[in-house]
Amino acid sequence: MPMEEMRWNLDDVLPKSRFDALCRELEENLKQYDYFYPKLKPGMSEADFKELADFEEKTGEKLARIGGMPQLWESVDQKSQEAKLLKGKAEDLGLKFSNKTRKIGLWLQGKEVEGMQRLDDKNAERLFRAVPPLYYGMMYARKLAKHTLSEAEEKLIHEKDMAGVDVLVDLRELIETEFHYKFKPKGKKEKILKTVSDLLVYAYSKDPKEREAAARALLEKYRENIDKFFMVYQAIVKDWWHDYERRGYESAIQVRNIANHIPDKAIEVLLNVCKENKDVYHRYFRFKAKELGMKKLRRFDIYAPLKAAKEGKIGFNASRKIVLDTFDSFAKGFGEKARIILNAKHVDSHPRETKRGGAFCATLAPKIIPYVLLNHTGKERDVSTMAHELGHGIHSLYAAHLPMGAQHANLPLSETASTLGEMIVFEKLLEKAKNDKERKAMLSDKMGDSFATILRQAYFVKFEILAHEAIKKGVTADQLSGIYLETLKEEFGDSVELDEMFKYEWARIPHLAATPFYCYAYNFGELLSLALFAKYKKEGEAFIPKIEKVLAAGGSRAPEEVLREIGVDMCSRQFWEGSFDIVREWQDRLEKY
Ligand SMILES: [Zn+2]
Repeated sequence: MPMEEMRWNLDDVLPKSRFDALCRELEENLKQYDYFYPKLKPGMSEADFKELADFEEKTGEKLARIGGMPQLWESVDQKSQEAKLLKGKAEDLGLKFSNKTRKIGLWLQGKEVEGMQRLDDKNAERLFRAVPPLYYGMMYARKLAKHTLSEAEEKLIHEKDMAGVDVLVDLRELIETEFHYKFKPKGKKEKILKTVSDLLVYAYSKDPKEREAAARALLEKYRENIDKFFMVYQAIVKDWWHDYERRGYESAIQVRNIANHIPDKAIEVLLNVCKENKDVYHRYFRFKAKELGMKKLRRFDIYAPLKAAKEGKIGFNASRKIVLDTFDSFAKGFGEKARIILNAKHVDSHPRETKRGGAFCATLAPKIIPYVLLNHTGKERDVSTMAHELGHGIHSLYAAHLPMGAQHANLPLSETASTLGEMIVFEKLLEKAKNDKERKAMLSDKMGDSFATILRQAYFVKFEILAHEAIKKGVTADQLSGIYLETLKEEFGDSVELDEMFKYEWARIPHLAATPFYCYAYNFGELLSLALFAKYKKEGEAFIPKIEKVLAAGGSRAPEEVLREIGVDMCSRQFWEGSFDIVREWQDRLEKY
C-alpha cells in the first residue's frame, strides 16, 4: 500500500460481524408494522403520526446500513463473493420492506387503498405539519399522485412496460454492443475495433486523420442500422406520448420537469439562454482551429488536444492540501466538513485491480459520515474530482440535521456544493500553474468540458422536443435525421464544418431512448452552480452564509423557494445569463494567452 493511500473504514456503516444480527432485528421491525396499520386513519393524532415517522427513520437507517455496507465493499473489491452474498441478502430484505410498506406510501399520497380510509387534503396537511422536515416531500408526493392512475391501471402499465419499452431500451443496447467498427484513417491500413471505448480513444487523437476515421467508423454503424434505431425510438416516443396524455400532463417534457421539481418556465428560459449564448463556444472553436493550425475546425476536431504543456504529477497528499486550503479560504464550514470525511477514513483514494473506476460520494444516512471513492492517479483532473466528490459529502453534512427522507437535495440543487468546490479549486490550480502555456491548456480543456455539459446537452433536449412533435405527426427515419442535422447547424453556426454523417448521431445518444429529456439535468446543475459562483465572486464573504443555508435545506424545501430566498429566480433570464458571464471570462482569458 503506497504511503499516501487511504482506504475506507466500513465498520462505521456496519461491522461485518453484526450483519446477521441486524438482519434479524429488521425482520422483527417488519412485524411491528402490524402495530401501525390499524392506526392509519385520516383522524389519527399527530403524536401517532410522529411515532410512525420516527419508526420509519430508525428502520430506514438500519436498512441503509444493511444495504450500504456490502455495496460499498463491492465497489472497492468487485471480485468479493462475500460482498455479493451480503448484497443479495440485503436486497431480499429491502424487497420485503417495500412490499410491506407500499400501502403506507399510497395512503399518504391520498390514493384509495383497500381496507383503509382515504387521507383527505385537510388531514394530510395537519399530519404532515407534525414532521416539518418531511412536509415538503410528502406534499410533493401528493401532487404527483394526481398523475397516478388506479392501482389496476398502474399494474397493467407496469406489466406492459416490462414487456414493452423496457425491452426496447435493452434491445437498442444489444444492437449497439454487437457493433464492430471499421477504423481506417486515410493512408493507413484498416483495423477492426470491437468496442466503442477502443474506438473513441481516437476521437481524442493528435492525428486529425485518426479523429475523422474514428467518427466515421462510429457513425457508419448507426447509418447502416438507422431503421432499427428509428423503429425503437419511434415506439418509445409514442409510448411516452400515450402515457403522459393518460396521466394528465400538459406536455412531453413536463413529465420530466415535475419529477425533477423544476417549473416548466425555468427549463424554457434555460434552453433559450443557452441558445443565445452559443457564440461563446463558437469563439472557442475558432480559437481552437487557430491553435491547431486549421482554417476551420471540423466537427471531428472539437475534442482534439492542444499542443499542451507536459502535465506534471500531483501526489494524493499534495492534492488533498490544495483542496483543503482552498476550501478553508472559501468557507470555514467547507474545510471543516471535508476534514471530517478524511479523518473518519471515509475516502478510498487510489486505483486497485479489483476496485471500480470513476469517482462517487455515497450518502447513506444522516448519522453516517458520507463515503467518497476516488481513483487518484496524479492528474490535474484528479484534484478537481476530489473537490467535486468531497463537495457532495460537504453538502450531505450540512444537511445531516435532517431526517433520511429530506437529507438529499432535489435535482436542481444536488450538484451545488460539488460544482462550486470544483470551480474554486480550478481557479486555485489556474493561479498555481507554472506558466501561461499550462494555463492555456487548462482553460481550453475547461471550455471543451463546458461545451459538452452545457450547449451539447441543451441541443439534445431541443432535438427531443422537435422529435416528439414530429413523431406525433408522422415522420420517416430520414426526416428525423434531417431534423437532427438542422439542430446541429444551429448549434455550431458557421464556427465548425459539419459533415452530413453527423445527422445519424442522435441514434447513439442512449438517454434519448432510455430517459427522455434527461439531458438537461447536466446543464441545469452546471449552470446553476456557475451562476452561484458568479454571485460569490460579486458578493464575496456575504455570500457564504447564504450558500450554507441553501445546502442545509437539503431536500426539505422546494428548490425554487430556497433559491428565491437568496435572491435567485430560476425562471429569470438574467440569472442564467450570470452563468455565461463566467464562461465568457474563461474564453476571454484563453484568447489573451
Ligand atoms: Zn456530482
